[in-house]
Parts: sequence; structure tokens; C-alpha cells
Amino acid sequence: TVDVFALNWVNRQARLGEPWFFAQTPTPLSSPYPIAFNDDVAALLDIDADAARAAGYTQTLAGNCLPDGAEPTSHRYGGHQFGVWAGQLGDGRAITLGDIRNARGQSYEIQLKGAGKTPFSRFADGRAVLRSAIREYLGSEALAALNIPTTRALAMVGSDAPVYRETVETAAVMTRVAPSLVRFGSFEVLFEARRFDDLAPLADHVIGEHFPELAGIEDDYARYKAWVEIIIERTAGLIADWQAVGFCHGVLNTDNMSVLGLTLDYGPYGFMDSFDPGWICNHTDEGGRYAYDQQPHVGLWNLGRFVQSILPLLSEVPDDAVAMGQQLLERYRGIYDNAYMARMRAKLGLIDAREDDRALLESLLKTMARDGADFTRTFRALGHVSSAPDAGDAPFIDEFADRDAASAWLADWRQRLGDAGADDAPRAERMRLTNPKYILRNYLAQNAIDRAQDGDFSELERLHALLRRPFDEQPDNADYARLPPDWARGLVLSCSS
Ligand code: AMP
Ligand code: MG
Ligand code: MG
Repeated sequence: TVDVFALNWVNRQARLGEPWFFAQTPTPLSSPYPIAFNDDVAALLDIDADAARAAGYTQTLAGNCLPDGAEPTSHRYGGHQFGVWAGQLGDGRAITLGDIRNARGQSYEIQLKGAGKTPFSRFADGRAVLRSAIREYLGSEALAALNIPTTRALAMVGSDAPVYRETVETAAVMTRVAPSLVRFGSFEVLFEARRFDDLAPLADHVIGEHFPELAGIEDDYARYKAWVEIIIERTAGLIADWQAVGFCHGVLNTDNMSVLGLTLDYGPYGFMDSFDPGWICNHTDEGGRYAYDQQPHVGLWNLGRFVQSILPLLSEVPDDAVAMGQQLLERYRGIYDNAYMARMRAKLGLIDAREDDRALLESLLKTMARDGADFTRTFRALGHVSSAPDAGDAPFIDEFADRDAASAWLADWRQRLGDAGADDAPRAERMRLTNPKYILRNYLAQNAIDRAQDGDFSELERLHALLRRPFDEQPDNADYARLPPDWARGLVLSCSS
């Protein structure tokens, strides 16, 4: 048989070793069975997906046998959870098999989430339940298809082994893939422990592997500064991406913030149905710290913790480092604002930027919020409205209770489009490619989970296929673009995973 996991394992993280990466093998999982294997991500890794399905990927991705050449590790990190320093956390149930370099020279970390205990498991069991594995698999692939930076999902395997959460559930292992899973908290844990000398080796590793554009900067301080600038830009851009599709992360602790600007850690996340700026997707977040409209500010707060932890890399003079850090962070708001407005203008079908675009956008969002209009459906419907008065208005206006207000807004929008927007076909096409028809509504994920818990993975497969093409009309799947049913309103999500 072919060894489909005979990849170009380079194991840079294992090479770097402690105190950042600790050798750790997965704990075998009893009688694992295959659930899903993702061709798109297999291609990134130079894995032949058909061969993997034929040869069987289950034992390897359950952690029961190690690929030749892989050197598994768990990563040490800490984090601020809900605004409070939580101390050392680390990979408590995720074990990275190793990192590979593909034929195109790109490196990827291949990680088994739910692979058993590690030195960082604290009091928990090192496992993941099927429900949470499916949510991460679908969520990360949905964001990837929306062109939003994210970790990816290669595969899922399950087992009948019981896992105890609020109820008894069963175990699953999700194979997570990303160029790197290093987080803000990876640096914070070093800073908080006053291990200042350990900051640079990790930063150098991340920059050397994942920021080749910085290789030419000779001066160390200048290079770290340029690196921070990129991280600030990517974080702002990522959060603008989320806002533009109505995505709420749910647990934006600093240990869940990627230094590559990837969406990281899919827990109680959610895509918004009715537009509600204060929407809280995680019911354990009673204060709404991570509500939808707080995400941009939380991004800055988290960057503040990160920058503080790497101050020793910005200057040898502490006061200068602090001043530099502040100066870098001050740029966040402007960068975020530009990124957000660029995305929202595109959603409205506008090409150029004008001063009063924000007012136009805010008036729409205000009406949507008041009427509880569906975020995704409203923007998608706007793409079908013509610049000629009263043409194609109905599906858009139907999303609102106050039809007159929606109509009045359309008149303002038409005026703003003016001559530049008069050519409807190209504008409609641009809007189609930025306003998705299909998103991963919570109830859709729940349906796939319910079926999977009964051993039927067909709904999971269908949903994944649908979400791979969120901008396409897919008439056969039109039901998936409907308003959620009434029972879906009561769905609550917690951190339990
Ligand atoms: P999260 O809320 O998913 O960001 O996880 C926070 C911390 O808890 C991380 O250090 C995780 O590795 C750890 N953790 C979460 N669930 C488990 C589990 N079942 N077993 C061990 N560690 C866990
Ligand atoms: Mg996490
Ligand atoms: Mg998590």
C-alpha cells in the first residue's frame, strides 16, 4: 500500500523544541472510523485525497500510528481570557504531528485536535467531541471559501469512546492545518514569566518561516517592528472580513489570536441571522465582551497585549520600546476603518470612495437592526436591485418590516450609484462575488451534527459541498439560503467542546 502521509516532514517546530514546543505523542483512540476527508486541504499538502481514502487515513489521523518522519509536539502558550491573564494554557488536546514543506515551498503544520492529554491539559481530558469537531471543520472551511484567512480542516475521524461534557458524547479528532498555529499568547507566556531571552528565537522562527518579505531587513529591531506592523494590518483586515460577513468569533482571548492573522479556534462562533450589532454568539459571555460590534475594539486590545509582550524586541531602551509600541498600535483604528469601509462599499456595489458613504451604510444598518433584517439575505438581495427606480426592489424590501424605510434607503442608494452604477450587469456580478448567498447558519450546522451523531454523515458532506461555493446561486440548494426556522432561535452555544 502507498504511504499517503509520506510527506516532506521538516519538523521545524520540533527542531526549535523547548521551551516553545514539547515532544508529545498522541494517545491512541479506540476503534476509530472515518468521517470526512477534504480534497481542498489535501491538495495544499500534496496528499492524493483519493489515495488517502482508499488506503485509509483513519489510524494515522486518530493518532494511532505516526507517519514516518513526523515529530509530534505540543506548543506552550498562555493568554488573556475575557480580559484577565489566565497564565499558562498551551495545547491541552491538540498535538501537532509535525510541519511539512510542500512542492511549492509552502510550509504547513498538521495538527490533531482531540488527540489526548499533553503537559498542558491541566484538569481536562485532552479530547474533543464529535459536535465540536464538526463545527470547526465546517466553520473553518466556510470562512476559507469566503476568502477569509483561517486555519483549515483536512479530516475528521470519530470513535465510540465516551467523552463527558454537559452530557455524555463521543470522541472525534479533527485534523487542523495552518502554516503556523503560533498565537499572541505564545509570546505573552514568555513575557509574563520574564523569559525575555526566549522571545527572539520564537519570533525569528515565525518570521523566517512565514514572513519571507522581511528577510531583507538587516537590523533586528527594524525587522521586528515591520513584523508587528504586518500583524496589526492583518488583524485589522481579518476582523473587517468577519464584520462584512456577519461572523462572530465568540472567544477572542489572546490565546486564540494567530500571529499570521488567521481565524483561529472555532468554539461557540456564529454567523449572524438577523442583524443585531450587539449580538453575542457565546452564551457564557454574559457581559458581551466578544459581541459582534465589540470585535474591532477587542482586536486592538489583544494587539496591545501582544505588543507589550514583545517590547524587548522593539528597542533595547525600554522607554523607546514603549513609545514605539504605542505608535504602532495607534495606527490600528485607521487601518481597521479603511479595511472595513472598503469591504462594506464593495457590499453596496460602490467602486469609488466618498465622504458620505459611511452615513449611507449606517442608515442601512440601522434600519436592518431595527427590523431584524437578515444580514446575509439583505445584502445578497441588494445585488439584484437595478439602478432604474422600482426595478427588482421586492426581494430586498421583503427583508424589512418597514418597507417604506427600505424603499427610501434604496432611493438614496440609487442616487449614490449615479451614473457610475448605471451599468447593472457588472455591478451585480461584483456584488454577487462579495455578498454570499450561503453562510453556515447555526441551525444548518446543528442539523448536520444531529445526523452525524446518528451515524449519518451525508448532511455534513452536503453542507460542506454547499459552503465551498457560497457565492454561487446553486438553485438545488436554495432551501439553505432561507430564513432560519423558528426552532433555530433558541439555539445556544457554550464553550463546551
Ligand atoms: P479554548 O477555550 O478552546 O481556547 O481552550 C483554552 C485552553 O483550554 C487551551 O489551552 C486548550 O488546550 C484547553 N482545553 C480545552 N479543552 C480541553 C480538553 N478537553 N482537554 C485539555 N485541554 C483543553
Ligand atoms: Mg483556544
Ligand atoms: Mg477551542
